[in-house]
Amino acid sequence: MKAAVVTVGDEILIGQIVDTNSAYIAKALDRIGIGVFEMLSISDDRHHILNTLAYLQNRVDVVIVTGGLGPTKDDITKTTFCEYFDDHLVRNDEVEAHVVALIEKVLKRPASQMNRDQALVPSKAVVLHNEVGTAPGMWMKKADTVYISLPGVPYEMKHILDNEVLPKLVAEFERPYIVHKTIMTYGQGESVVAERIEDWENNLPSFIKLAYLPSPGKVRLRLTARGTDEAALKSAVEAEAVKLQAIIGDIIVGMDEDETIEVILGRKLKQLGKTVSAAESCTGGRIGQMLTSVAGSSAYFKGSAVTYATESKIKVLGVEQQLIDIYSAVSAKVAESMALRAKKMFCSSYAVATTGNAGPAKGDADADVGTVFIAVATPNGVFSEKFDFGQPREKVIARASEKALELLYKEILKN
Ligand code: ATP
Ligand code: MG
Repeated sequence: MKAAVVTVGDEILIGQIVDTNSAYIAKALDRIGIGVFEMLSISDDRHHILNTLAYLQNRVDVVIVTGGLGPTKDDITKTTFCEYFDDHLVRNDEVEAHVVALIEKVLKRPASQMNRDQALVPSKAVVLHNEVGTAPGMWMKKADTVYISLPGVPYEMKHILDNEVLPKLVAEFERPYIVHKTIMTYGQGESVVAERIEDWENNLPSFIKLAYLPSPGKVRLRLTARGTDEAALKSAVEAEAVKLQAIIGDIIVGMDEDETIEVILGRKLKQLGKTVSAAESCTGGRIGQMLTSVAGSSAYFKGSAVTYATESKIKVLGVEQQLIDIYSAVSAKVAESMALRAKKMFCSSYAVATTGNAGPAKGDADADVGTVFIAVATPNGVFSEKFDFGQPREKVIARASEKALELLYKEILKN
């Protein structure tokens, strides 16, 4: 079973707003076993809408359109639907009563004629009630394709989709089950990971597909199984994950999409009753931001000192001037000193520190762009590693932050 998502609006096409509706709809459809075949963003133009509806007819089973349902002249989805379905508008009393009540309650004024006309719907449409707004959704059918029109405002779209559209799709269509499992790996690039798991990947059953989802410092491996027997799919996917663990267990940190390094590290620290702090130069506070993005991180995160200028490494952390003079601010010795001093200053069990050159130009020190030293101070001492994270700047910062947490996590696992 296939679907298409169409977002209507000039605002999207000129880059003024980002289309988040399509992603939300695709995710929701995926959960109920409907694959999205195509996504289109089109202008608020009658011809463009008509051509798109015609193009998708019989190509997909379901078309979900968002946008252009408002009461103003630029909102033409409803009248264009009428034209496409060779239909006319009729007043829906239930919708009108809802619109009048909502306007009076929220805006504390009587509903205008324009408001009341939101209750005009194509006579052939099944009306999808919009409890949180004034524009109702519509469900119509032509030949083998169902067309669903929803408001563009994201919270209204979501409300109608979740409460009206998804239950109706589930009730009216037979769908396969789709089971996903995401395996989080850290520290190796996608081509290295691909090489290591090549044999396993070649032997995957045909109903299971593998996707590589790389981002700085990590690669997510997503297994997707499709079929009619949900329990069988689940156990097949689990069995493949177990095999994968045996091959690349050293770089797997979690078996869930949400299992990021900061979540897993936090869980481990909590379990051990240990704490962490940071001293950040080139990462500029990102390590602190990552750690605090996890609810409950106050149990183990003591703080991060962003000591960006060389002077601040000396004044705030107490790194010795002499060390910087001899080795430079971007060096293993300075990274280690930063970590040790953060650990002491914040009274934490562990501390991580970063110092490097994120680019684009060379900074205070003479280090090459992309060079980052990461140090980890532990209850037993300190160690550091030198990395070359390449370019551009955002990638260097993201990879250095991920790597710092990864080094710390691996160190904790050893003890
Ligand atoms: P309204 O009654 O507000 O006019 P509408 O159904 O006519 O609703 P649009 O006019 O197309 O919807 O969009 C209203 C607002 O909703 C936009 O200004 C934008 O902020 C948001 N919006 C519309 N489409 C999308 C989309 N695809 N992704 C994210 N936001 C969107
Ligand atoms: Mg509008």
